[in-house]
Amino acid sequence: MADCIFCGILDGSIPSRKIYEDEETLAFLDVFPAASGHTLVIPKKHSADIHSIDARSYGTVASTAKKVADILTAKLDCDGVSIFQMNREAGGQTVFHLHIHVVPRFKGDDLQKPWKVQATTQESLETTHRRILS
Ligand code: AMP
Ligand code: ZN
Repeated sequence: MADCIFCGILDGSIPSRKIYEDEETLAFLDVFPAASGHTLVIPKKHSADIHSIDARSYGTVASTAKKVADILTAKLDCDGVSIFQMNREAGGQTVFHLHIHVVPRFKGDDLQKPWKVQATTQESLETTHRRILS
């Protein structure tokens, strides 16, 4: 797709540091890493986000993310891995070609969950639960 950075990586017009590749997916190092080894996994067929990709193709991207998590853990000896996948502007997405972030984690690193842990009420949970199930 024109003007898509990740399509540019796929067609070789934008350089990248490849970690893993198969018929349907590519994994490469993020150039603004949250931690060393931070890797992005993308489908080779352009889809903007989780809503515009079919479930099977999303599964192939998730499956590659698992492979990458195993590779990074083995090679970088990290203590854990965090997976992030942002959708649409409100979801924190900045590049609109679907991607899964695989971020190596090390004991004592200063990365935080992207939300504040806070209690809610049973009433609020009930309202939301009903809304989702309706
Ligand atoms: P998101 O904000 O979830 O859409 O993630 C987009 C990610 O793409 C960010 O973490 C950027 O650092 C990363 N990024 C942008 N341009 C490039 C590039 N040319 N090569 C590798 N990673 C990139
Ligand atoms: Zn694209």
